[in-house]
Amino acid sequence: MKTHYDMIAIGAGSGGLSAVERASEYGKKCAVIEVKTIGGTCVNVGCVPKKVMWFAANTATQINSAKGFGFDIDMKSFSWKKLKEGRNNYIKGITNWYDGYLEDLGIDYIHGFGKMVDKNTINVNGIEYTADHIVLSPGGEPAIPHIEGAEHGITSDGFFELEDLPKKVAVIGGGYIGVELAGVLNALGSKVELFGRADKLLRGFDPMIQDALDKDYTNHGIIIHHQTQIDKVTKDKTIITNKGEFSGFDIIIWAVGRNPMTQHLGLENAGVDCDQRGFIPTDKFQVTNIDNIFALGDATGRAPLTPVAIAAGRRLSDRLYNGMTDRHLDYNNIATVVFSHPPIGTIGLTEEQANEKFDKVKIYKSEFTPMADALLDHKTTTALKLVCEGVDEKIVGCHIMGHGADEMLQGFAVAIKMGATKKQFDDTIAIHPSSAEELVTMS
Ligand SMILES: Cc1cc2nc3c(=O)[nH]c(=O)nc-3n(C[C@H](O)[C@H](O)[C@H](O)COP(=O)(O)OP(=O)(O)OC[C@H]3O[C@@H](n4cnc5c(N)ncnc54)[C@H](O)[C@@H]3O)c2cc1C
Repeated sequence: MKTHYDMIAIGAGSGGLSAVERASEYGKKCAVIEVKTIGGTCVNVGCVPKKVMWFAANTATQINSAKGFGFDIDMKSFSWKKLKEGRNNYIKGITNWYDGYLEDLGIDYIHGFGKMVDKNTINVNGIEYTADHIVLSPGGEPAIPHIEGAEHGITSDGFFELEDLPKKVAVIGGGYIGVELAGVLNALGSKVELFGRADKLLRGFDPMIQDALDKDYTNHGIIIHHQTQIDKVTKDKTIITNKGEFSGFDIIIWAVGRNPMTQHLGLENAGVDCDQRGFIPTDKFQVTNIDNIFALGDATGRAPLTPVAIAAGRRLSDRLYNGMTDRHLDYNNIATVVFSHPPIGTIGLTEEQANEKFDKVKIYKSEFTPMADALLDHKTTTALKLVCEGVDEKIVGCHIMGHGADEMLQGFAVAIKMGATKKQFDDTIAIHPSSAEELVTMS
């Protein structure tokens, strides 16, 4: 006899785990299926190991900065191996914790590849499981371009497997993952060249941020190649592009986007539609075209971020099992951080988007050297912008680059989500001396 559940999630990443956790708290019988490692991308090859590396890179930067404050210290050595070991142990702690947590909640963990058989049935390792509600949360995987020699490069997954700090690295892709890996490697001591197809890094971000990042990365030794199309990679890791040949790299990292892991999910067996790239469209309640099948997280192609997948999963179970009939995720005004050096925090519309959408847009901006860098040889930029709309100057966008931007934005995001105006920001007394105070004092 097949085991029957109220809810089964395919993929034990941020989205799938959150949906079944919340459902089980409402007393529902749940299972989650995972082919790789519990925790998914974020815990194993995404946010968590990335942030550990970012902290390590920040430490290296601070050691270099110490001289400016009078400390006579030299960095004797740096052990990538020790860092990797510590990072892996930290992650193991999280995944082990998950195992116990699922057990405590009474959620069945099924290890293997889940494939839809029909709209209520999933096959894993030859065994069929059925459920009233099925959550598709298979996430994504790094894309590798279809060009000659692509196999000579690694992806962000491979970056986390590196045994040593590479001497010279080519990072291909000017999106947030490329920018973050380039920043980490540069701060830790690699020579980094960053290749992007567009004329700016971080496509879709406010131009103030794009320009400030470009300037700071260049000042800190990263060589940036814009509008560069990679045609071929040779065995000795020479990169052949429309702008000429680049060589001498010991590692090439593809950071050229991520594809949804929906190809072998058996969507056709259950009648679930997906688009040409494999993303699964849903309505605002995460419902696919099949009414008992839901999709969450990166596989839906919207705002591919961990807190988005988590929020969508929790809201789905609140709606299905706790009578919260209109509970759904609002995809507007989602704050996000790029863990570059220095970090970037952004929420809402860029200046360009606001001008397209509204008649009366007012911009407030400020750019300066933060006090933290005043005594240093190598300074960074802090750049802040508020995008306001209408006679009330409602804040519809906030863009920050600079030390602390990652922690700074969360509180401002609450205010902006609540519809704050520039006047309300101005009425807030500044915290001094800080970089954040500029956001409530700009004129
Ligand atoms: C390098 C990197 C850095 C990132 N940094 C950040 C960050 O700082 N902040 C942030 O918010 N987000 C970050 N992200 C994005 C974040 O990791 C994702 O948005 C999030 O993990 C998406 O959750 P998900 O549940 O949709 O998918 P995932 O977490 O990818 O989980 C999907 C799981 O499903 C499994 N799976 C797939 N198909 C099947 C199947 N058929 N059967 C069984 N299991 C299956 C996969 O193995 C995977 O474990 C980063 C991503 C990367 C790659």
